[in-house]
Amino acid sequence: MSGFRLIFMGAPGTGKGTQAQRLSQRDGLAALSSGDVLRNEIKLGTEIGKQAAQYVTSGLLVPDEVVIGIMLAALSRASAGAAGWVLDGFPRTVPQAEALMRGLHEQRLDLHGVLDFRLEDAEIIRRISSRRVCSKCQATYNARLLPPRREGVCDRCGGEVAQRADDREEVIATRLATYRSQTAPLIGYFSARGMLHVVDAAPPAEQVEAAVRAILGALDRGN
Ligand code: AMP
Repeated sequence: MSGFRLIFMGAPGTGKGTQAQRLSQRDGLAALSSGDVLRNEIKLGTEIGKQAAQYVTSGLLVPDEVVIGIMLAALSRASAGAAGWVLDGFPRTVPQAEALMRGLHEQRLDLHGVLDFRLEDAEIIRRISSRRVCSKCQATYNARLLPPRREGVCDRCGGEVAQRADDREEVIATRLATYRSQTAPLIGYFSARGMLHVVDAAPPAEQVEAAVRAILGALDRGN
């Protein structure tokens, strides 16, 4: 699966981050999550972090002019020396997609595919409200189905495992509405370019991974 340049899109909680991590761990693709990039800026207290914080906390999109520059820079850093990459959570608006496509074009790079993870809202809400994340290494757990071995402690790095502030039920509704109004239009944008592949995100992660790999195996990679 190496050498791919991919976008994983889908509403929050559809498991696209988990699948991006799997490709990263097993195939050496760089997995770049815009949510992680922004949360890190907020943690570090940078100027960008200060501009992003209120949007992230309330489940709204950080303005394009803040996100585009930092994500294109993060992508060129992450992709150096990596066997391809997968973007998780970026682009999230049509202007972001246009900026990314322009950047790739300038570097004479093709995007190989966009995988759109689909799941019903009721299941999304169930998954997100039980999601727990390590604040240090970002490993993801599920309070019901896959808790860490010691409560609140990451199996992988010993960091603190907790619920993200924006995974609380009152913020999830805003994030879903934001997705429908601002990110769903990207489905048309990428499908018009023949790049969109729909993934049923309802089955267990192993099964979804097999479906992802089947799609990637059938992708045409010109360069
Ligand atoms: P995520 O971890 O992908 O669910 O992202 C968490 C939050 O970060 C979102 O609710 C937004 O506030 C912000 N965010 C992440 N990616 C983007 C993006 N591409 N454009 C704007 N805001 C973003």
